[in-house]
Amino acid sequence: MQHERKMIIGGNWKCNGTLQSVKDLVNNVLNQAEYDSNKVEVIVAPISIHLSTVKALANDNIKVMAQNVSATGNGAYTGEVSAEQAVDFGLEWVLIGHSERRNVYGETDAQVGTKVARAQANGLNAIVCIGEHLEQRESGETNNVLKTQLDAIKGSVQDWSKIVIAYEPVWAIGTGKTATPAIADETHAYVRSWLSENVSAEVAQATRIQYGGSVNAKTAPELIQQQNIDGFLVGGASLKPEFKDIISTMNTYPEASA
Ligand code: PGA
Repeated sequence: MQHERKMIIGGNWKCNGTLQSVKDLVNNVLNQAEYDSNKVEVIVAPISIHLSTVKALANDNIKVMAQNVSATGNGAYTGEVSAEQAVDFGLEWVLIGHSERRNVYGETDAQVGTKVARAQANGLNAIVCIGEHLEQRESGETNNVLKTQLDAIKGSVQDWSKIVIAYEPVWAIGTGKTATPAIADETHAYVRSWLSENVSAEVAQATRIQYGGSVNAKTAPELIQQQNIDGFLVGGASLKPEFKDIISTMNTYPEASA
């Protein structure tokens, strides 16, 4: 059986790098990755003032993504970049609702919903991040937390083919504690069941769900074998040479190459 969903791997470079280190990363790591672009989509998110450099240097197969998008349009909104401006610049992808935006900058579920609506209205693809804190997982609230986060974007989405969900448990981000393949797959299955109940069976089947949280070259191979994991959103390891190996791991998903 063919894996129906195209694999998707994102590198979230967060607020890291100099112009030179980012050029080196693109030339020495990203452009050297070996994968079948018919089966695997590769997207990287540098800081906004590095976007044009990365866009110019990266292979044609690699998409460049903004790490955030404004909940407002153009105008007197200091410090923001609008969806309209992202499109004008030639971006096709934006990242929305990363846990660092939510936890460090106080982004709310409602704002995430508005950002998703802005992305949709402008035809942008969005990776939308959701995930629970450790206490929430330990007290058995994970699915409820994810449900609340998903409910907040539901009314904003007309075209689910432009949405990728990144499940990123907050306790796994930057901590070196990757979710076990079983935990990640089970949680992704919950997200798929939410899609099935709240949108449609077809959308549940077609929507890509990435796992993110301390993914590295050692943990990626087993995670990617899971039925409900369609790729990764990689932070720390996407700044290192091993990102190339993680991308190549995508080719090893057995059904993807069937
Ligand atoms: P990490 O970050 O891989 O460094 O845990 C993932 C993310 O925040 O997207």
